[in-house]
Amino acid sequence: MHPKALTAPENFDAFVQAALEQGIGEICVTDHMPLSISSASDRLPKDGVEAYCRAVRELAFRYEGILRIRLGIEIDYHPSVLDEVQAVLEKGNFDYVLASSHMHLFVRDFSRYTASDFAAAAIENTYRAVESGLFSAVSHFDMYRFAIENPTRFPLKDGIYDVLRHEREIALVLDEIRKQKMYLEINPHLAESKGDFSKMYPEEPIVQMAMERGILFSYGSDAHKAKSVGAYLSELEAHPLYGIALRQWEKE
Ligand SMILES: [Zn+2]
Ligand SMILES: [Zn+2]
Repeated sequence: MHPKALTAPENFDAFVQAALEQGIGEICVTDHMPLSISSASDRLPKDGVEAYCRAVRELAFRYEGILRIRLGIEIDYHPSVLDEVQAVLEKGNFDYVLASSHMHLFVRDFSRYTASDFAAAAIENTYRAVESGLFSAVSHFDMYRFAIENPTRFPLKDGIYDVLRHEREIALVLDEIRKQKMYLEINPHLAESKGDFSKMYPEEPIVQMAMERGILFSYGSDAHKAKSVGAYLSELEAHPLYGIALRQWEKE
């Protein structure tokens, strides 16, 4: 979740209360790393990583016995910012590090990509992130669908995407996730914003492929607001595929 623990600590209690109301016993704060090419307000300020780590550890101490709070971070993996990624990871002793392929931040001219090319580029970037061995989990595996589904903001050459056309590349990433003993996150961010369960990350065929490989899953609400904590969690747990996926860890 992204409570902005450093820059908006006054909002943190609402995230804790939302978790407690849903019977969630442990949360992980994964605010966004500082990134030179982005000035988004939900990012940590430049040089704010150490203060962020201290802030989350202090919150964990304050809520001890009420809710277990872990220190995580969401990393934007891309070869062009690898030095920034490494600098951030050196500054904190994180419990959980999310690998994100936010390809829409790194593309200049969307009209040069078909939706399929864009997806392929994002998947390849995820492969590189996984192979680096730096991460605990892959967040929103197929977040490229967010750009494909918002053509006014991201004017790709076309909107034609079919997960099955990318099966081979996806399989390579999943094999590497298993090899690196990483988790695959189930993330309702797009589903929540569109009010449509079928927009879940990753979509079902990818979850199926991951289960066949014995990959373990985590749940990440990707909550930027307290009301999004635990979004779709009960529906996911009751779902015939996502529900079984989320319980894979019980077998280990
Ligand atoms: Zn993200
Ligand atoms: Zn996120």
